[in-house]
Amino acid sequence: MLTKTKIQAIDCQHFINGQFVDSQNKKSFENINPATEEVLGTVAEGGKQEVDYAVAAARRALDGPWKTMTLEERSKILRKIGDLILERQEELAQLESLDTGKPFSLANSVDVPRAAYNFHFFADYIISVGTDAYQQNQAALHYSIRRPVGVVGIIKPWNLPLLLLTWKLAPCLGMGNTAVIKPAEWTPMTATVLMEILKEAGVPDGVVNLVHGFGPNSAGGAISEHPDIDAITFIGEPGTGSAIMKSAADTLKKLSYELGGKNPNIIFADADMDEVIETTIKSSFINQGEVCLCGSRIYVERPAYDQFLERFTARVKELKVGQPFEADTNVGALISKEHYDRVNSYIDIAREDGGVILTGGKRPAGIEKGYYLEPTIITGLDRNSRCVREEIFGPVVTVIPFDTEEEVIMQANDTHYGLSATIWTSDIKRGHRVAHQVEAGIIWVNTWFLRDLRTPFGGMKQSGIGRTGGMHSLDFFTELSNITIKL
Ligand code: NAD
Repeated sequence: MLTKTKIQAIDCQHFINGQFVDSQNKKSFENINPATEEVLGTVAEGGKQEVDYAVAAARRALDGPWKTMTLEERSKILRKIGDLILERQEELAQLESLDTGKPFSLANSVDVPRAAYNFHFFADYIISVGTDAYQQNQAALHYSIRRPVGVVGIIKPWNLPLLLLTWKLAPCLGMGNTAVIKPAEWTPMTATVLMEILKEAGVPDGVVNLVHGFGPNSAGGAISEHPDIDAITFIGEPGTGSAIMKSAADTLKKLSYELGGKNPNIIFADADMDEVIETTIKSSFINQGEVCLCGSRIYVERPAYDQFLERFTARVKELKVGQPFEADTNVGALISKEHYDRVNSYIDIAREDGGVILTGGKRPAGIEKGYYLEPTIITGLDRNSRCVREEIFGPVVTVIPFDTEEEVIMQANDTHYGLSATIWTSDIKRGHRVAHQVEAGIIWVNTWFLRDLRTPFGGMKQSGIGRTGGMHSLDFFTELSNITIKL
């Protein structure tokens, strides 16, 4: 049974200087529904020329009415954008689900409400914060002012398309910048609808521009190289981040990176096992495991290992993998054939490395089309297996027992990634102690994905550069000038 009547998918054009346009050469590509393998529509394929037009419009808009708007006026526009997202919530959630293969229920309860909240949060935040001021005895008064960075390139992944785009766009606009956005090629629809919303909310033409396309030698590459783009905020894989950094080096752009993760989920035997199981189901398999924060390496203290595995496996077997628009679906389809094959290749690696597939590891019976994979639990691997070391970004977790705190901290840190970690224990001292030693930018104790948008968000090691959230976002999207007055 369908949750709601499906709406029509849309063809996606670029949005440049306030107008929807095709590519100059009329090039386009097909948008595939990962849940059915059917064509949803066409997407304009942009390249250097479209990025040039978009950047020129964004540069002009920096000096237009946007420049003289007060913070309060921009805050009002952000609030209106959030309101309009909520007015179109169901439509946006349906498009997001069609594009990504994620359950409609998830898009409708998490992705779209949070996208609206990103605008509502920054609408309030930007008018509530000040800047530094220091009086240096009777000698001088120092104070700082914020100015926009300029034209910002926003390059996005496909897993949480609207949520992550708005996470960057809201503070970017709030601080008076203009933007050129490139959504992931797999998920162009909600970004396109957002452009209508921005226009309706009163964002002046040229302030936000959208160019669809691919990465290297396409729209993404053109943004990274463009001499008139001042900063790039990128969310995606570390390898892509490295390529963008190389292209951006010649013009010394300011960069913000939110990259991949291979996040440890550390479960001590004294933890509340009911809470552990319910939260670990989510932290492992929500959004088909295609969330950078998913805890894909599960470490369980040996006295609780058998009990955890038995209860966790039983609950995972109850998850329903199926069509995104069926009301009781827990796990939808993976994003693409290419990604589906890649995730499956890790299950082959696990088998070759002597791993035991406790559940999953295959296509669900009875589903012929679409990129579906059963939630998969693997045991019996050691820390050298690529399955334990590399980001799989799918519904696959490894579970490994441990005996001591020192051992689990060493294993948790034995990775190039450092995005997030979860620690489960009823010993609060141990919670703090372990949290201080785990190398990750975001650490949860006895919870997961509990967010306050004022807090610093981002990864260490190869999981990112810089932080977003609250003041950290404002710092990236502004240049601070310090002014000193001699007294
Ligand atoms: P990706 O790096 O393959 O692509 C991301 C974007 O970069 C896409 O829009 C793509 O077209 C573009 N791109 C690719 N090559 C480019 C190039 N050479 N120059 C410019 N642009 C280029 O990532 P993905 O597969 O879309 O997303 C999955 C990755 O994103 C995972 O590693 C995941 O952990 C990470 N991610 C991180 C966070 C976070 O907050 N840290 C959030 C979501 C996803």
